[in-house]
Amino acid sequence: MHKNFKGIEKTVFGRGSFSQLGEIIAPHRSENNGYMVFIVDNYFKGKELEGRLPVQPEDTVYFIDVDPHEPTTEQIDILRDEILASKGLPSGIIGIGGGAIMDIAKCVSLMVTNEGSSTLYQGLNLIKKPGIYHVGVPTISGTGAEVSMTAVLTGPEKKLGLKCEWTVFNQVVLDPELIATVPRDWWFYVGMDTYIHCIESENGQFNNAYSHAYAEQSMKLCRDIYLGENSGQTAENDDKLMVASLMGGLSLTYSEVGICHAISYGLSKILGMRHCYSNCIAFNHLADYYPEGVAEFKQMVAQHNITLPQGLSKDWTDEQITAMAHVSYKLDHMWNHAVGYDWQEKVTIADIEAIFRRL
Ligand code: NAD
Ligand code: ZN
Repeated sequence: MHKNFKGIEKTVFGRGSFSQLGEIIAPHRSENNGYMVFIVDNYFKGKELEGRLPVQPEDTVYFIDVDPHEPTTEQIDILRDEILASKGLPSGIIGIGGGAIMDIAKCVSLMVTNEGSSTLYQGLNLIKKPGIYHVGVPTISGTGAEVSMTAVLTGPEKKLGLKCEWTVFNQVVLDPELIATVPRDWWFYVGMDTYIHCIESENGQFNNAYSHAYAEQSMKLCRDIYLGENSGQTAENDDKLMVASLMGGLSLTYSEVGICHAISYGLSKILGMRHCYSNCIAFNHLADYYPEGVAEFKQMVAQHNITLPQGLSKDWTDEQITAMAHVSYKLDHMWNHAVGYDWQEKVTIADIEAIFRRL
């Protein structure tokens, strides 16, 4: 079976395009109970962007601090209940922030029309009803969350996305001016998430001409940004990173991620380590699986004087390592892609534990 996916319905790209948000959402304001919900990264509270939000008196604005933890099922359920109890079904949800806010906005747009806890819907095509109009305005580029058909949530049992056609944004606003303030270390980790998406998408059985074309272009942009003679956090590179993130996301959508993401999910679920950072921690030690990708990654790490900690595993208990290995092992689709349909004959829990012990 070939993947048949719905893409983002509308995309605006360009410096200053955030100013068009008000007119973009205006035609949707009469839907449902006639108010918009803005879900904005707390970083922007009190910043210039707060004054530029196209908010009407009937709208609700939530500033959310994404730093304590990655989005959880409990957090989404509470937010959804609060929104519905206040003014009923909104006309739309507008998420403005990094990958975490993109995922929160997607989930809330689905959960306002689907009853019960979001834990019921973690998986592929479990959502029963279409959600409401939702817009993504990324302020960090790299995760590809702005384009992906999944919204990743950490629940009591698993870290897994709500994945279906209705998850995909109706509208995305790509304004590279918004990513200028991303701290340098995070700019690196999140860009490496894009780069790793491409390497993993390319190296596995689901790679194909369509996913390859996106990965190739996205990797070219990553090389300009992180290795080129004009590398660094410049306006021109921010334009490129925003496009690279989108294309990396498209590449993995039509192919799959692989071993680094399987390991990274274990680190996030059990240790609470952030997605992009844990990818870097893991990828650094996966040269046997991705030799060229890891070699180039190390060049980028060196060029930008990024310090990635080593020897972390000596502080982890055996129980933690086993728990992480089990989280990874459950990500069947990733191992399938990277190793083959018979991956369970080639990779054991003990092998995965051994990978964690390298970190
Ligand atoms: P993030 O959303 O976790 O934010 C990281 C930090 O950057 C936060 O402190 C935030 O306040 C701050 N920030 C946001 N925008 C900023 C700006 N313009 N300037 C300065 N600071 C800013 O970061 P992320 O790495 O983009 O996202 C990680 C999340 O994305 C994880 O929760 C992960 O699970 C999710 N993810 C989702 C997908 C998907 O396909 N849905 C893919 C990969 C990752
Ligand atoms: Zn990723």
